Amino acid sequence: MQAAILSIGDELVLGQTVDTNSAFLSAQLASRGIMTLLHQTVADDMQAMVDMIEYASQRVELIIISGGLGPTDDDLTRQALAQAMGVELVMDHEQLPEIEAIFTRRGKAMPDRNKIQAYHPVGTTMITNTCGTAPGIIAKLNKATIYVTPGVPSEMKRMWYLSILPDVIKLAPSRRFIQTIKVNTFGRGESTVAEELGELFDRTRNPKVGTTVSKGIVSVRIRSEFDSDEKAQTELLKTVEAVKDKLGSIVYSTEEITIQEVLVNMLRERNMTVATAESCTGGLIAKFLTDIPGSSSVVKGGWVTYANEMKMRELGVPEDMLMEHGAVSEPVALHMAKSARQQADSDLAVSVTGIAGPDGGSDEKPVGTVWMWIADRYGVTARKFLFNGTRDTVRDRTAKMACQMLRMRLLNEDDTAMTIG
Ligand code: AMP
Ligand code: MG
Repeated sequence: MQAAILSIGDELVLGQTVDTNSAFLSAQLASRGIMTLLHQTVADDMQAMVDMIEYASQRVELIIISGGLGPTDDDLTRQALAQAMGVELVMDHEQLPEIEAIFTRRGKAMPDRNKIQAYHPVGTTMITNTCGTAPGIIAKLNKATIYVTPGVPSEMKRMWYLSILPDVIKLAPSRRFIQTIKVNTFGRGESTVAEELGELFDRTRNPKVGTTVSKGIVSVRIRSEFDSDEKAQTELLKTVEAVKDKLGSIVYSTEEITIQEVLVNMLRERNMTVATAESCTGGLIAKFLTDIPGSSSVVKGGWVTYANEMKMRELGVPEDMLMEHGAVSEPVALHMAKSARQQADSDLAVSVTGIAGPDGGSDEKPVGTVWMWIADRYGVTARKFLFNGTRDTVRDRTAKMACQMLRMRLLNEDDTAMTIG
């Protein structure tokens, strides 16, 4: 069974109001195994509405229309529905007193134009509105059952839960069970991840696999749909394993768990401590780590050595090293990491020095150049990154990369798995 959702109103097509009804209804339908084939946003225009209703009623079995049931001249949904069905509007003698009663309760007489709200196309039934004056309508046209609700989101939702959802559950021929999960990665671009997923990305596959990216984090979304909950769950987990096999160590969590949370937990399990020595991130790495409750047992502390003079005084970076190589350089980052680890007496230390921009770049060291070192009891590893984007982006990606580099170091994974930057 497929659905179409039509949102009616000039304010929606003009971009003055964001259409939140469609998103709500689609999510509701999807969680009950009904896929939405199309969302249409239609102006308060009689012919456009008639066309869309006719089209959708030939394509899908379920149509939900919201908006345009008000009492004013621009509210034309009931007229458009009648025209698409080729019938007249009639007055519903049960609904009229209900609407009148709403005004009586407010101590007012019902304006004449509200009468139209008690009208509906011949052959359809009305849905009582328990929190507003516009009743909904249930109609049949071609292969579709059509539900019309008011546009006001709170009224639409109430009508959905009270009157439409119970019907829809009966309409859907077989109960489908849907399980979804998000697998989070950091360190490779979205297209690289998609490519590596290979046949898992096949659009006809169930569980279905897709990717989204937000703030440098590429998440693999998996959606498993079967006719039993257990099957949906086992197939989902099988696909999670398949995704992890393909992507390897850049996968750091599932669901909403952040990379810093994963890192702090790993340090706690291993009874290990960390220190930070930051230049271009200005303390962001320390913030990321200390955002996590319980981090006090693993975060020793850190330095924000922004000026050269602070790098020298606080972390003992030699002046001639700064002169010869510049602050954004491998030897300086190395010195910062080693010195931070020694002074904090921690198991690990991470250092970053880079050019966050927008100014300060050169041909040799463009904006986004970041040197990052990890020091532990066995030695050091270094990476040079080149991040794209604004100052905020460069700093954010650097801090996330520091967490991912520390995580990889703890796991003894090869950090060349990360190809961004
Ligand atoms: P209507 O039922 O067309 O008179 O809509 C009443 C009000 O509900 C509009 O002025 C909008 O503010 C709001 N509204 C209508 N449709 C939507 C929608 N699809 N998403 C969010 N708000 C809406
Ligand atoms: Mg409207």
